[in-house]
Amino acid sequence: MRKVNLKDFKTANHRVLRDINEVIVLNVIREQQPVSRAGITQVTHLKAGTVSRIIDRFLETSLVYELGTGTSTSAGGRKPVFLHINPTKSYAVAVNVAPSRTEMALSDFNGHLLHMKSLPTESNPQEFLPKVADEILSLISLTNRYSELGGVGVGLVGLVDTENGVILEGENLGWGDNIEVGKILRERIKQDLPLYFENAARLSALGEFWFGARYLSEYSDVVFVVVDEGVGTGIIVNGQLYRGSRNGAGEFGHVCIDPAGPRCSCGSYGCLEVFASDNATIRRYMEKIAAKANPHLSEDVRVDVNMIVKLAREGHPSALEAVRETARYLGWGLAPIIYGFNPDAIVIAGKIVEDWPLVEKEILDSCATRVSQPFLGPTKILPSTLHVSPPLMGGIALVLAKNFAAPEII
Ligand SMILES: [Zn+2]
Repeated sequence: MRKVNLKDFKTANHRVLRDINEVIVLNVIREQQPVSRAGITQVTHLKAGTVSRIIDRFLETSLVYELGTGTSTSAGGRKPVFLHINPTKSYAVAVNVAPSRTEMALSDFNGHLLHMKSLPTESNPQEFLPKVADEILSLISLTNRYSELGGVGVGLVGLVDTENGVILEGENLGWGDNIEVGKILRERIKQDLPLYFENAARLSALGEFWFGARYLSEYSDVVFVVVDEGVGTGIIVNGQLYRGSRNGAGEFGHVCIDPAGPRCSCGSYGCLEVFASDNATIRRYMEKIAAKANPHLSEDVRVDVNMIVKLAREGHPSALEAVRETARYLGWGLAPIIYGFNPDAIVIAGKIVEDWPLVEKEILDSCATRVSQPFLGPTKILPSTLHVSPPLMGGIALVLAKNFAAPEII
């Protein structure tokens, strides 16, 4: 599933390649809506008649609708009519099974979330996953347009068999290996509803790439770094998710930063994840405050990264040091990504970067100590632009983006 790069594409003039022009026009409407036929002609350089014929087909199949008019040109003539993607054309459900909580959402065709749910992730998948299936069914019941439902996109941690929805190895979840998530969900969701599976970090990349800021569309090669209970990455190469031979590409969280460092969940020592995950930030903060009495903490308060980032923003020294130390490790961890992939941009998601000015300098400065300027200079390092959970948005993209993806050309 390759996203069309609107800054760099070749339109097709042969009838046999009509599909490509349709996908390009649909993507222009999705990204620039509301947009007129003249606006589409200008962006795509297709003939006005070709654009009009494509739009007529879209209107016939309710993919788009017309609403509102612009001002007419100085030469007079008809006022341009604006086109929009029809949000009710299709729906999607996304699920993200993370170590602490499992989130779910129902979205329309534009990727707008209509309903969200979440529940604490439990330790026994055989008991927990049927509950997730019930929640999926209850979300689906909120739309009475079952026939328009495109499917369910499920995010899982670790090494995932995406075809069958099996967690082959998922040490952060604590469920053990070879967990047949797809089979357990399918037993409960009896309807003939497509279920799609993907590793959560790769889903985050997909979510950001399809629903993030529009400027990301200008890049074809982007690496997304997700910092949460672990550190994962999703790699987009030439507008397409890169999966690797066993669907395991992007485990930069297990690149060694310091061989003398603490043991990682993978069995090795000193991995990036040990130094830069949310758990590392919490551990670091707790160590810093251990020696002092802390007026901000009472015994029964559970420390999480949101709280540490909030304290850091307010200028509390221990929190600020903990957050910035994590940022430094993160900056070092970007070096193998930049040298390995030479991406247009690296986008970082996670609570640790929610207040970007708080960590930006630390990340960029520490990265600069490990990467030479010709490589670092052209690489944009940016925070995530999604306001809701990136893997959830990725689950939506996994289902809906098929409608907008570039056709495979042999
Ligand atoms: Zn590791």
